[in-house]
Amino acid sequence: MSEKTNKYIEVEARFRKYLLANDLRQTKERYAILKTIYNMEGTFTVDDLLNMMEIQRFPISRSAIYTTTQLLVQANLIIRHPFSSSTAVFERIEDSSPRSYQICSHCHRITRIKGRDLAEAVGAYHPRRFNVSHRVVYIYGICPKCEQILNKRLKQLSVTE
Ligand SMILES: [Zn+2]
Repeated sequence: MSEKTNKYIEVEARFRKYLLANDLRQTKERYAILKTIYNMEGTFTVDDLLNMMEIQRFPISRSAIYTTTQLLVQANLIIRHPFSSSTAVFERIEDSSPRSYQICSHCHRITRIKGRDLAEAVGAYHPRRFNVSHRVVYIYGICPKCEQILNKRLKQLSVTE
């Protein structure tokens, strides 16, 4: 069995436990959505999931996806990234290893920070009487592309003044 399959079995068991503990229905749609998420890499939106389910010829409603993604967030199996854009962006979290991201406040582009220093510092923090499920750090700023555009605009403004 591959490592990926093992991970999925573990995640599915955690979702089952969550549904049972909260007296929620275990539907084949909910498990199909979870499986699809674990076959995707990186961030995704509700539309991405709808497309993927369509490709797999698994008919599903948008509302079923909304409900299930909410449940998965509550079950700590996916995170919803805190963007100011109106579209919700999710990502799976299959383990407790710290994650850090940089977000451009201008274009809302999110990039995973792969450096070890930040991950180690965040991972070393152990709060008292609080059971950590996952660790996520966001660093906000301006990406080089947006900075270039903004600088260009500023230059144009100073020329016309
Ligand atoms: Zn940007």
